[in-house]
Amino acid sequence: MNSAYERLLGLLHSLHLIHSVQGHLGWDEQVNLPSGSAGFRAEQMAEMARLAHEAASKPELGEALAELETDMAALTEDQRIVVREARRDYDRVVRVPADFVTAKARHSSAAFHAWAQAREARDFAAYAPFIERHIELAKEEADLQGWGDRPYDYAVDLHDPGFSAERISALFAELKSGLVPLVQAIEAKAGDSVSALKGFPVDAQRTFLSEVTARLGFDYHHGRMDVALHPFCEGSGLDVRMTTRFHEDEPLDSLFSSIHETGHGLYAQGLSAEHQATALGHHVGMAVHESQSRMWENQVGRSRALWRFFEPRYRELFGPQLEGISTEELYREINAVRPTMIRVDSDEVHYNLHIILRFEIEQALFSGALAVKDLPEAWNCKCEELLGRRPAHDGAGVLQDVHWSGGAFGYFPSYCLGNMIAAQNWAKARAVLPGLDDDFAQGDFSRLLDWTRREIHDLGKRYETLELVERVTGEPLSPQPLLDYLRERYGEIYL
Ligand code: ZN
Repeated sequence: MNSAYERLLGLLHSLHLIHSVQGHLGWDEQVNLPSGSAGFRAEQMAEMARLAHEAASKPELGEALAELETDMAALTEDQRIVVREARRDYDRVVRVPADFVTAKARHSSAAFHAWAQAREARDFAAYAPFIERHIELAKEEADLQGWGDRPYDYAVDLHDPGFSAERISALFAELKSGLVPLVQAIEAKAGDSVSALKGFPVDAQRTFLSEVTARLGFDYHHGRMDVALHPFCEGSGLDVRMTTRFHEDEPLDSLFSSIHETGHGLYAQGLSAEHQATALGHHVGMAVHESQSRMWENQVGRSRALWRFFEPRYRELFGPQLEGISTEELYREINAVRPTMIRVDSDEVHYNLHIILRFEIEQALFSGALAVKDLPEAWNCKCEELLGRRPAHDGAGVLQDVHWSGGAFGYFPSYCLGNMIAAQNWAKARAVLPGLDDDFAQGDFSRLLDWTRREIHDLGKRYETLELVERVTGEPLSPQPLLDYLRERYGEIYL
């Protein structure tokens, strides 16, 4: 029995190493790649994808699993979890023929370029056939996986196991009914404003965000922060790669996207290094990942308490830029509510409405209630309904996100579910860790980080998201803590 388990571990470890190399190649592509080398990198990535598929579908892997499954009672509880999750992954890989994987990868690559051009030209019609094809492929894949009657649920389950569109709809409906009036009330009070933060030298921005992210607990001996067009975080705990971007006139964009990615990085570094090849050292799903990044970015990063500690240093680095801006004005700038049609630029109050819009549209696309050609109009109408205004053009509307070009349907809900989980965890953390504000004001974030390590990171993928939330907070997942948090923080400023 043991030897089958050891064989399984060896095969999973090898697969994990291949995946980590793929991740770093992808990171390098966005951070370092010389402009003339894209074709060669595409070839390298394709070969790595082939190797990964081969390693993930090895008959030896299936044989080891089958052998272990003949006597699960002989395994420890942790070993059973490893086998259960490895079985799920293995079945998903072998149910899809290699030809299908290649066809989908090829289509994604073509669709990405078509999307980038269409966005630039604001020409949705040129991109529409690529989305249509992606929906066909997604349905075909769901069918191969035995989810033919629920293709959108399959897409959701890929990112957040245990969720369904129905479950998410119920959560989002409750969120929406609380959020829309809150947003309207805040907008009525906030009025129009523009940021007063201009001309922040990039070198000093880099210094400040390194100090902040290290102080939050990110281990720079096992990770780094570089510059890329879009912020992201990839890698496992032994080597985490994060990126940010800098604009002199948008210093808070690079700072908060860095803190966001640091939240992802802290989760990666908190997962068991010893078990990183198996479910015991694997994250739970995208919503939980996002809950970690969001909590550090928003609940912690935008708090008065954190800024009590960091503001003097911020002023030391940016004296001239902050001259005439009071502590209160800086805090309001950090928590500014300014409506935008662009999801990634959205403030915390509006953000979830952008996600609800996408979720409703994706469901309609999959059910056939909405044809791809009618997407722009449907998008604009939903914008008007949820955000009170229409985008000026499709580049700032239906063409703004990269996700669909890669066939990543069912991904958007994770962002909003992550916000809900973040707020629910945060409420629990504050209840069980009194005095967190005092910690933060002294630059000490260790009690909160340790709590997330113990309650979430150490568990790996032992529980699915909904079960984990209930274990951590003692309550089923609910949008209420998020609504309470938004009302508390933004109500204090605006209402
Ligand atoms: Zn994120």
